Amino acid sequence: MSERTYLDWNATAPLRPEARAAMVAALDLAGNASSVHAEGRAARQLIEAARVEVAGLAGAEAKNVTFTSGATEANMLALTPALEVGGRKEGRDRLFVSAIEHPSVRSGGRFSADQVEELPVTADGVLDLAALERTIAGAERPLVSVMLANNETGVIQPIRAIAEIVHAANGLLHVDAVQGAGRIACDMAALGADLLSLSSHKIGGPQGAGALVRRGDIHITEPLIRGGGQERSLRAGTENVAAIAGFGAAAAAAGATREQDAPRMAALRDRLEAEIARATPQAVIFGQGAPRLPNTTLAALPGIKAETAIISFDLNGVAVSSGAACSSGKVQASHVLAAMGVEPELARGAVRISLGWSTTERDLEKLLSAWMRVASSLLKRRANEGLAA
Ligand code: PMP
Repeated sequence: MSERTYLDWNATAPLRPEARAAMVAALDLAGNASSVHAEGRAARQLIEAARVEVAGLAGAEAKNVTFTSGATEANMLALTPALEVGGRKEGRDRLFVSAIEHPSVRSGGRFSADQVEELPVTADGVLDLAALERTIAGAERPLVSVMLANNETGVIQPIRAIAEIVHAANGLLHVDAVQGAGRIACDMAALGADLLSLSSHKIGGPQGAGALVRRGDIHITEPLIRGGGQERSLRAGTENVAAIAGFGAAAAAAGATREQDAPRMAALRDRLEAEIARATPQAVIFGQGAPRLPNTTLAALPGIKAETAIISFDLNGVAVSSGAACSSGKVQASHVLAAMGVEPELARGAVRISLGWSTTERDLEKLLSAWMRVASSLLKRRANEGLAA
């Protein structure tokens, strides 16, 4: 394949060299981490070292980290009525989720559909705090789930302010920090989060690993996967030692380099958006009025369909994605843009460009020249179709 430009880091990030090295070393161990012999203890040691590294990314204590198969599972594990605080036997009676959450949160976890309610966002894609306060007031012990940053727009949510409102209403706050971790500060205590989900493959670790991080006094009394006593009986099944070791190494690397990487990515992103606006002034960039991740741009050209644009980018050697959820090749309208009140016609054209720690000026130039080519050919084709119609 000729030289490719990968700008779809929010879908998955390339494996960090540190994660690869940790995984290769772990694959050479024979032990089951539950075994008491030296081989088992060596595997256990890798898992516990990774637990410390992942906890570090969230400013949490290692004992409060539960490894899972990814953030989808971490979200399912967290979103349950069976949550106790400080040993008090009182479950959660209602779940409130923002309208822009990932499908794994929007599906309501282990609550029944009639216990789940959606919270609106503003036109900028930020949770409507007044609506949050009003809506949860009627619930006795609400559980609220709001993401740290949105995967499509990159818009950062005011988690600290949300936590204050939720706690004043006797509620608990779960934060899906998948897209924020490693890109912006993600300290659980500073955010005021009670539960927090992380995904390995968004920070340069392998796919198929994630974690749920809890505040020390919170207990989940119903595991999602029952069986053996792994993960303090919260997640049965022999651990995927290599994936967990890779996740730990990625968490350590992401934490150590975030403060240098973020401003560099933000400068590239700002340049990208300025050039897009200059070359195609009709382009709309979503969520631009709100604080956003340093690496994410969601842009649409009126009249262009994202699926056509993405194929054209791909043929030009550039990997980007549509803002819309794409499963089995079928592009559905983005629930995020719909919640922001964006017209379906414009939303259909949203293209997400997401950068990462190894993105270079050259990648940006390739994207920009592809943008010009794709925009002019698609707009020309559309004009011709208009004439023919
Ligand atoms: N939450 C968000 C915000 C995501 O972007 C993703 C990944 N697309 C997930 C959860 C699910 O993570 P995983 O792939 O680890 O299940």
